Amino acid sequence: MSRIRGIEVKVQKEVLQTRKYGLNEILKKKNEDQSTNSKDDAEKHQIKELLQKLPRLDKIFDVHRKIGEGTFSSVYLGSLRQHASLPETEKRWFAIKHLVPTAHPARIEHELRCLQDMGGKDHVIGVELCLRNLDTIVFIMPYIPHKKFSEYVGEMDAEELRQYMRALLIALRHVHSFGVIHRDVKPSNFLYDRENRRYLLVDFGLAQRLCPAPEEPPAERAPPPAHSNGVRKRTREEEELASGAKRMALDLSTGRPVASPATPAVVASPRRVSAVMREPAAGGASPPAAHGAGARPRCACAGAAAVCAACSARPAPRAPRAGTQGFRPPEVLLKYPQQTTAVDVWASGVVLASALTARYPFFRAGDDVAALAELADLLGTQPLQQAAESLGRRVVTSSVRRGLCLRKLAARLRGTTSISTGSRGSACMRCRLPQEQCLCRDETKKADEFVEGRWVAGFPDSAFALAASLLDPNPRSRVSAAAALLHPFLASPSAPAPPAAPAPHTAPL
Ligand code: ADP
Ligand code: MG
Repeated sequence: MSRIRGIEVKVQKEVLQTRKYGLNEILKKKNEDQSTNSKDDAEKHQIKELLQKLPRLDKIFDVHRKIGEGTFSSVYLGSLRQHASLPETEKRWFAIKHLVPTAHPARIEHELRCLQDMGGKDHVIGVELCLRNLDTIVFIMPYIPHKKFSEYVGEMDAEELRQYMRALLIALRHVHSFGVIHRDVKPSNFLYDRENRRYLLVDFGLAQRLCPAPEEPPAERAPPPAHSNGVRKRTREEEELASGAKRMALDLSTGRPVASPATPAVVASPRRVSAVMREPAAGGASPPAAHGAGARPRCACAGAAAVCAACSARPAPRAPRAGTQGFRPPEVLLKYPQQTTAVDVWASGVVLASALTARYPFFRAGDDVAALAELADLLGTQPLQQAAESLGRRVVTSSVRRGLCLRKLAARLRGTTSISTGSRGSACMRCRLPQEQCLCRDETKKADEFVEGRWVAGFPDSAFALAASLLDPNPRSRVSAAAALLHPFLASPSAPAPPAAPAPHTAPL
């Protein structure tokens, strides 16, 4: 009887709901519930499987739920079993990173070494414990609650952004002091506990040692450098290529080129800028030794927006390109082999530009050539070409871009209109837009200089100057993390207070 009643009640409820929300809404909600349930089930299954494969983990920890998933791992929230009876607030929480079993053992060892050697200081994640059983490996690390960057990117004010960037650059200065390039600096690897203003740089899965340190451990135990020979390959990068993942793993071998096409790429970007990338002809601005290209006679196709058959047949340049699309600097996009810690500094500049403009992701190009075209749009073709020349590369574009003013861009994207452009009302000579709408960079002014006391889009002018220094297309002149920390935007104990009322800017942008 009660069962029948139960069914009746359920039917009545559904009828009422159908009247209230409509059939489609209910079906949609049901589907959502079902997919959440199946996701929960899948997650529970994964946790169960992990605990079966690694019984010691089960002995020590309660594994609660999945808190993150990257290309190469799943991360779970855990607490100590011995704390099970404690209230939630008194428990110690851990992030349990389960590495995909196909990851190369040398790479896992390298990530672990990075955590052990550098971690636990200066906003760099440390490791508490590593457990392994056959090919199941987990790192147990301190847990930090955090939100997605996209949820707060537009909310940070000048002081919060100053603290955030300071923490990121402190972490990078620390990592770089060990001669290590993180290679995957981006908001999802720099966790920010906004409530408690705590920060953690995580994920050394792609980290690369700059050059062997003098006190290098024996060769067979050393973490793999970028181009170590003789490492048997169980390629993470091949997996990625197959899945079209945006994050590229570091190539551990020096065998055949893995990802690069045999011919230099010529791709028209959505913005109708095309780029041709090739090694420079002999006699170019840079010494051939700097990039490993031997002296070659200048080809007839040099400088043209096309590549002849002979040049197409040249072996493709080879360089590490581990990292995430949108955060790769020109030297990576141009396949310059001698990459340095400047790679991370560029990525931090992308993060800053993102926060200043409240746009995430900041760069959206889908491939390297389109990414170069995006950089040409922002920085201007000439600065990019000059940087490329100094690296022994040539960038040829089908049109000249003068570059965008990040200050104007931020003001536009944040809807700040009180920008004095000097001659309000007249049209820009270049883009022909009214001055208030023009985003053109003023080539007579250096973007890395700033006007004391001027505020743009809610941020001190110095923040934009710092962004320009971090986003220097030339890695050789790009500021280091240590030097960036001395920049006026970051060096002062707190950001200068904004003007009480949004005062008109005294100097034109
Ligand atoms: P992957 O190498 O797969 O990218 P990550 O180490 O970046 O793995 O971790 C993936 C995600 O897991 C992170 O973006 C973050 O959301 C979460 N995560 C990682 N470590 C922690 C931690 N210590 N505390 C809280 N969440 C974490
Ligand atoms: Mg990650």
